[in-house]
Amino acid sequence: MRVLIVEDEIELAKQIGKALQEAGYTIDIANDGEEGEFLGTTEPYDAVVLDLGLPKVDGLTVLERWRTQGKTMPVLILTARETWSEKVSGFDKGADDYVTKPFNMEELLARLRALIRRSAGLAKPLIDCGPIQFDTRSGKVTLDGMPVTLTANELKVLSYLMHHLDRVVSRTELTEHIYDQDFDRDSNTIEVFIGRLRKKLGFGAIKTHRGRGYSLSPSEKET
Ligand code: CA
Repeated sequence: MRVLIVEDEIELAKQIGKALQEAGYTIDIANDGEEGEFLGTTEPYDAVVLDLGLPKVDGLTVLERWRTQGKTMPVLILTARETWSEKVSGFDKGADDYVTKPFNMEELLARLRALIRRSAGLAKPLIDCGPIQFDTRSGKVTLDGMPVTLTANELKVLSYLMHHLDRVVSRTELTEHIYDQDFDRDSNTIEVFIGRLRKKLGFGAIKTHRGRGYSLSPSEKET
């Protein structure tokens, strides 16, 4: 899952970025509205953390432009003031949730998890796929109730597939959602991660669709 952080307070942006990375997200940071708008328009994000008071272009305008262009990723806004009018304008312009500064990082993470989950159509924090269970809160994976140890990248691939069950996901799409914009992307590494996931979760767990990508479906579990 890849998240864009648009925040002009450099230290705060770094703190949020660090917390998100530790929680298993891939992140990009923009420190002004212009760069934020550009990234949100050109890169596929699973969620955005958007500050409202930004240099160059303010957060509400950025949000409004994304929505006008048909960008539907969930957006959590950061508001500095306890003013209800800013929150109302935020929701009216297409925000999905907000936190007021100063905020607790755990709360931001919980709200973000819920947003990403809901945008994937999932109501519960535990995602089941046959014998595989993924806890979006802890990032823990179990197979038939037994814990499975995954590397950070394996977990990123699995998390993306678990959030998109029953859908064929291309290698390019997986690459775009597990690496940040500065990463030298090589979609061949995805094949390596899929191979390792199959070893750990059962060879029938992830299906290959020749030339199209991979899918994870409860009905395709190993028999
Ligand atoms: Ca600001």
